[in-house]
Amino acid sequence: MSRLVFVTGGVVSSLGKGILTASLAAQLESRKIKVNVLKMDPYINLDPGTMSPVQHGEVFVTADGAETDLDLGHYERFSNARMKKINNFTTGSVYAEVIRKERKGEYLGGTVQVIPHITDEIKRRVMLASEGSEVLIVETGGTVGDIESQPFLEAIRQLRLELGRARQVLIHLTLVPFLNKAGEVKTKPTQHSVKELRSIGLQPDILVCRSEAPISDAQREKIALFTSVEKRAVIPLKDIDTIYEGPIELNKQGLDDYVVEYLQIDCPPADLSSWKQVVDAQMEPTSSLKITFVGKYLELLDAYKSLIEALTHAGIKSKTRVVIDYVDAEKIEREGVEVLDGASAILVPGGFGQRGFEGKIAAAGFARENKVPYLGICYGMHAAVIDVARNLAGLEKANSTEIDLKTDHPVIALITEWQDSSGRIETRSENDDLGGTMRLGEQACKLASGSLSRHLYGEETVSERHRHRYEFNNNYASQLVSAGLVLAGHSEDGTLVEVVEIEDHPWFVGCQFHPEFTSSPRNGHPLFSGFVEAGLKKQAENS
Ligand code: GLN
Repeated sequence: MSRLVFVTGGVVSSLGKGILTASLAAQLESRKIKVNVLKMDPYINLDPGTMSPVQHGEVFVTADGAETDLDLGHYERFSNARMKKINNFTTGSVYAEVIRKERKGEYLGGTVQVIPHITDEIKRRVMLASEGSEVLIVETGGTVGDIESQPFLEAIRQLRLELGRARQVLIHLTLVPFLNKAGEVKTKPTQHSVKELRSIGLQPDILVCRSEAPISDAQREKIALFTSVEKRAVIPLKDIDTIYEGPIELNKQGLDDYVVEYLQIDCPPADLSSWKQVVDAQMEPTSSLKITFVGKYLELLDAYKSLIEALTHAGIKSKTRVVIDYVDAEKIEREGVEVLDGASAILVPGGFGQRGFEGKIAAAGFARENKVPYLGICYGMHAAVIDVARNLAGLEKANSTEIDLKTDHPVIALITEWQDSSGRIETRSENDDLGGTMRLGEQACKLASGSLSRHLYGEETVSERHRHRYEFNNNYASQLVSAGLVLAGHSEDGTLVEVVEIEDHPWFVGCQFHPEFTSSPRNGHPLFSGFVEAGLKKQAENS
């Protein structure tokens, strides 16, 4: 039976609960423990799929096609655990299930309440996610004290009682601020946060204390005394240079040792050598490359979390410091493609809707004409296809039907039918719901021999994750191919175009899928590595 590690956060948000959780997963995995990770999110949306990227950040897509919180991306990047639909749920989804059962009469006329019905459903989902692993780490979104997360905390309280000591442990992440005027760190917010936890019946076993300044031994002792946590279990966490240092730093402070001791797990010590290699490569690059990133959700870069990480990973692989130059697609619309002059590599990420799309098409055209390495992801592939249609194939005003339903040349159009990874046929029409109806999740793609992508992957069939509603329109295939577009990848049944390239171009790849979701710091990803390599070449030519 699996053991549970609960992670809660206090004092303020954005302390890095996701990174702490992911780092612990990496540590335990390096001790040969089979881990899995679950994120419980306190909001009412069924999933983050319909939430604005500038409010909620990226939607991370799992192999089995769930639209999930971006923290699941961290879990996959830090560990070998593969996230599935059951690894993330929201308050809304819990209520939806309970209400569904109520309508069915499954509560036999009883009054349906937060305790026990909502908490029972939460506990059921936690135990479901724990199946098959030795340790399940459960991260609770939000901050202790929020109304929204109370049912989750109550469920944790019940589970702790039911499981007993040694089958579960509670880690609370807090902030120990440094006050400039006073010249010292302050422990009071941590004391208050623990008091808040206690008021709902939760006594933490481990405190991880984020602080910019060192926390002295005396202060650790004070925190321990006021919070009834063993001093050894008051773990200071200073700011780190890169998130990938998390497993190493927390190991130095004794986190994994304490957790396995508490949970009475017999296992070897942590071997974090692969993480040391990652950090060394990242901190001591031998070259540097500026990548021009033409996006539109630039107010909140979390909207591009996995993508930014994937570029960092490619840098780690080649010991290159990747510097991202963010260019607002609308700026290109206003000021022209000249703003891209001198670019060594251009990336157009995924996106939705009209705003900035013409700027993205112009960026693809600029990269094509000036032989600048181009990586277009999903919407970035659509932009590249439209550029070729308009400017090489003479299809004036070609567009995606996402933008212009009545376009004369719908080279990108609504995807009406596809086969999911299990072989089931999915169909869609204009009138479907917006939530959860895109082509989602991992599907196989066959790469054409002789193509750049085939060379980069070194394999004929690859599996990558999707999240889109529109696709390449095959009615235009022969025209666009004659104009110089290479159809380099297709879905396994051959019906959907998955990858496009450009003839006579040093490096141009547009992919319908999102390769960023499968990149990791230790393994990188062939498309991103190839892109950075090509960018370095172009940069050398330019200089
Ligand atoms: N908006 C496009 C579509 O729905 C692309 C989506 C994306 O970039 N993820 O097909």
